[in-house]
Amino acid sequence: MKAMRTVGAGQLEIVEAPIPAPGRGEVAVRMLAVGICASDVQIYHGKHKYVKFPIIQGHEGTGVVHAVGPGVSGLAPGDQVCIQQQLACGKCRACRKGRHNVCENLRGLIGIHVSGLFSEYFLCPAWNAVKLPPSLTRDQGMLAEPVSVGVNSAQTGAFRPGERALVIGAGIIGNLTAQACKAMGAAAVLVADVAEEKLSIARDNGLDAVNSGISDLGVETRRRFGDAPPDAIFDCAGADATLKQALALAPNASRVVIVANFKAPVSLEIPSFQRREITIYTVMGTVRESTTAAIDFMASGKILARDMVTVRFPLEKMADAYRYIDENPTRVMRVAIDIGG
Ligand SMILES: [Zn+2]
Ligand SMILES: [Zn+2]
Repeated sequence: MKAMRTVGAGQLEIVEAPIPAPGRGEVAVRMLAVGICASDVQIYHGKHKYVKFPIIQGHEGTGVVHAVGPGVSGLAPGDQVCIQQQLACGKCRACRKGRHNVCENLRGLIGIHVSGLFSEYFLCPAWNAVKLPPSLTRDQGMLAEPVSVGVNSAQTGAFRPGERALVIGAGIIGNLTAQACKAMGAAAVLVADVAEEKLSIARDNGLDAVNSGISDLGVETRRRFGDAPPDAIFDCAGADATLKQALALAPNASRVVIVANFKAPVSLEIPSFQRREITIYTVMGTVRESTTAAIDFMASGKILARDMVTVRFPLEKMADAYRYIDENPTRVMRVAIDIGG
């Protein structure tokens, strides 16, 4: 089988390896489509702090179970699955609380610390292969991971039916966080960004969206939400300015949820939001329970994944895929890598 390995910053090579045979409790998955995440772009450019080259990247993928090892139940060859990224211990305090995304003994994240999905076949513990209903398309299966991040963001931000959400950042995670709030029964959701392409994709997905580069976000939020201000503001952009904006717009006794990965430190004037008793939540990726909820939301049509795949490339053309992402920052939601037929 073939796999695409990143051997250094901006350097890829195809490697040949035998098709892996599953051991006890493991499954081998024949990969079909894998998305390129923002973290993959960082890794590819040698800008990710915790990655050692060479590494086979990729963690947002769908495939078909090829073989199951002894002791595996609930999965059989032919099942379509998506992959849960964390190789968690299942025993530590965080795992026992259902937060295996922050496992204290994490063996690694697939595609970041250990071999990932840009490969014709992939071997993992059966726990990491999450079964998909046959009604989901291949792209929906591939998008289950980012949808799951959106669902985890709403859940971790304690979002409740009847609440109002303001989401800053209309990239794929902002878009899907907003859709997750809606799917969970939001009374109103507004998404803000400065990139018109992303706002129009948000609108295609049934979201109310505003260009915060042109209009004042506070005014626009009040206009839409009336005298019921947002209960939760999600920062899905991850910049100094967006976090400060989220905290400034948060009404008394509301929540700010940090979803995006910040690349630089931010300095905050704490009394400015402490006196309004703003609760800050942080979100780290996703958990398996959010993945199964994400799958259900997609299967029932409550979360649409329209226009999320901007363009697709075959595995051999991965360098072109990264080049496309670099050249189209305001347009790209996900670039899909097609692997198997
Ligand atoms: Zn990702
Ligand atoms: Zn653990």
